[in-house]
Amino acid sequence: MSKTYYKGYWMVTNRCNLRCTYCVLENAPHQLKAELDLNGKKELVSHLYHNFGFRRLTLSGGEVIIFGKHPPSEFIELLRHIRTFRSPDPSKNLEIELYTNGTYLDERVASEMEGVVDMVAVTIDGVKDSFLTEIGRNHRGHTQYFDHIVNICSLISKKGIELKLHSVIGQKNHLLLPDEVAVILDAIESAGGQVSAWKFYQYMSYDAPDRDTMHAIASNFYKTFKARVERVLAGRNIRLHFKDNQEMNASLFNILPYGNAQYMRANDTWTTSQRTGDLRSYPSMAELFARHDIDHELYRQFHQVQR
Ligand code: SF4
Repeated sequence: MSKTYYKGYWMVTNRCNLRCTYCVLENAPHQLKAELDLNGKKELVSHLYHNFGFRRLTLSGGEVIIFGKHPPSEFIELLRHIRTFRSPDPSKNLEIELYTNGTYLDERVASEMEGVVDMVAVTIDGVKDSFLTEIGRNHRGHTQYFDHIVNICSLISKKGIELKLHSVIGQKNHLLLPDEVAVILDAIESAGGQVSAWKFYQYMSYDAPDRDTMHAIASNFYKTFKARVERVLAGRNIRLHFKDNQEMNASLFNILPYGNAQYMRANDTWTTSQRTGDLRSYPSMAELFARHDIDHELYRQFHQVQR
């Protein structure tokens, strides 16, 4: 009988050095303290691989590179652990995708990623410094986010790692960004970066009225945004993915920094979303499904990988 393999999205840490106004982070001191330590994180990777059949893992945050007391040392140690799950045999290999804001990604970190990380996704929501400051991407010492990201894209491509862009689409950029996507790609390509894919996320409500009032956009605006971007990027040989709120809710299964997972049932919102126990306490995915009201079919639709 063929084995079932899965992929998953892991928010490795809630720690972040930026303050994006659309972000929901559980980063109060007691929440940061409750995160798995490095050994716990390593155990979780081993457990997901051996007992849950995970063969693809997306490392995200917060900002994953800065977890621990002496960034990026612990991140590098985690990468070295993950390296032991790499294999030329696709049924044994653990593929890794990394989502980062790039601010701590330098030559040393990029070299450690070679041969471990298959794809890096960086977020860029717009070009103008004033806009990036307004949404918190320029924060404290991290100014000129756009220029920095262009350099990071170049570094990633030079290391032979696939490069992807992410953008969060809300009230502040849905009209502007279609006019900027070509500028962004041109700047990255001129610096030697090669973008293979671009994912656009419709801002998702976290049931926080202040944030929603500032960022949420209606579906028809998102559809218009999509049509404009598709027109501008036609012929540029980049895979485009427009993730709307419906897809985000249906696919949501976030492995959290505490080692448990957040999931949604059909009519849940962010506030009513459910949490599993520590994933390391379930011997198998079958047991996880049996103990929680997770829609198995939906889960497989978004999280099963073929090997
Ligand atoms: S970089 Fe990511 S995790 Fe950090 S504040 Fe911005 S959206 Fe949140």
